Amino acid sequence: MKIQYTLVAILFSVSNLVAGGLTDWSTGKTFRFDFFHSGSAGIEKISQDEIRLEGNWAASETILIDNFDLGLYKAELREKETGKLLFSAGFSSIFGEWQTTGEASSGLWKTFHESVRFPEPRFDCKLIISKRNPNASFIQLAEFDIQPNSRFINRSTIPKMGTVIDWLVSGEPNKKVDIVILGDGYMADQLTKFKSDVDRLAGYLFSVEPYKSRKADFNVRLILAPSDQEGISNPRKEEWTNNLLGFRFNAFDSDRYVLSFENKTIRNLAAQVPYDAVIVVCNSKKYGGGGIYNLYASVTSDTEPSTYVFTHEFGHSFASLGDEYYTSDVAYELPNQQKYEPQEPNITALLDKSALKWKEFVNQETPLPTPWKKAEFEQISVDIQKRRTELTANRAADSTMNKLFREDKQKTEAHLKAERYYGQTGAFEGAGYESHGLYRPELDCIMFSRNPDHFCKVCTKAINSAINRYTR
Ligand SMILES: [Zn+2]
Repeated sequence: MKIQYTLVAILFSVSNLVAGGLTDWSTGKTFRFDFFHSGSAGIEKISQDEIRLEGNWAASETILIDNFDLGLYKAELREKETGKLLFSAGFSSIFGEWQTTGEASSGLWKTFHESVRFPEPRFDCKLIISKRNPNASFIQLAEFDIQPNSRFINRSTIPKMGTVIDWLVSGEPNKKVDIVILGDGYMADQLTKFKSDVDRLAGYLFSVEPYKSRKADFNVRLILAPSDQEGISNPRKEEWTNNLLGFRFNAFDSDRYVLSFENKTIRNLAAQVPYDAVIVVCNSKKYGGGGIYNLYASVTSDTEPSTYVFTHEFGHSFASLGDEYYTSDVAYELPNQQKYEPQEPNITALLDKSALKWKEFVNQETPLPTPWKKAEFEQISVDIQKRRTELTANRAADSTMNKLFREDKQKTEAHLKAERYYGQTGAFEGAGYESHGLYRPELDCIMFSRNPDHFCKVCTKAINSAINRYTR
């Protein structure tokens, strides 16, 4: 009888542990699950690298289940014994993007290193990684045992690298969005330049709503570990640089797309401070950047639109905002039939007008789709894009490209501002790289063009929701 009572008592205490908040089931430290994501178009495999202990859990202690339904992938931590969901997070990845490239379609296999982070559990769990189907359901890709007592967990301290600077400290990490800004392509004597680049870029971000009003919800820390050489690699100009974090132009053969494939180096550098979001400032005068949801945003430091790119790319990585722009350089494009609603909060296929995800912002008298002088706009932008392609091919000077950006802004902004529905929310055709079949909420937005200094209402709401996720 006595033994049975003990068992009941143990079972009761276990169920209590699981039912409560973070501190009941987690040590409050962070586990980073490192893995290799391999495959080709239509096939992918996930294999474990290692589990790495990081510092204290920096995200919310109360919002542990991700109900945002964003990102191409999802990680779930479940108690092994009961299957109870303890933690989940949506994310996107470089592999997921690469899978849509011609290189992947050719049948080539590639591997990318990735990580998911979650609170260190006190008992055995399972980590499940799933992928979103186009119809929005998820398919399980892999399942791993997480045994916190295993001696295979890497519990060594995170090595100290570079200089850490508190740029903005507003409060405890669990109640704030913790951004870590890393520098790449800065040499040891360029700490002052890095700092002043961040002052300009992050300073601009916090002048744009909703970041401006909610600045007190953020902590921002900078880490600069110097590179051997200045700048980042630019393969199209045959410039190869030995920069610490491996950021380079021409990711997926797109000239201005700046990514690094050195995930582990980036993660180990970032893990010196509590962080929820990573931004990397690359020391370069050439236009470029990138942003992947829950991975990182990158931006080059010294172009006229750098402050804009910083804000735009962080929209991708922090709030899973989609690109609202599109190209129309195919003269007689056939309408692209969109079968599914995109997961990005600011793009719709408008398959069901009555269920428009941002209908709260649309006036009753605004028609859906919302008319605009699309053909005339495209006339202007096709001309600019053509000249931009020529400039890139001819390796034009950065100043020549900046001049073209100014002309683009002048012409397209005037055109959009003259539109009847400028500044109003509707569903404007042309978004998410598609000229037809995808719609954006407003005519202009930071996610559409370099013109405005504000996000549309829909993007603003999505950013506010992302902030709430880390501060409640
Ligand atoms: Zn927008």
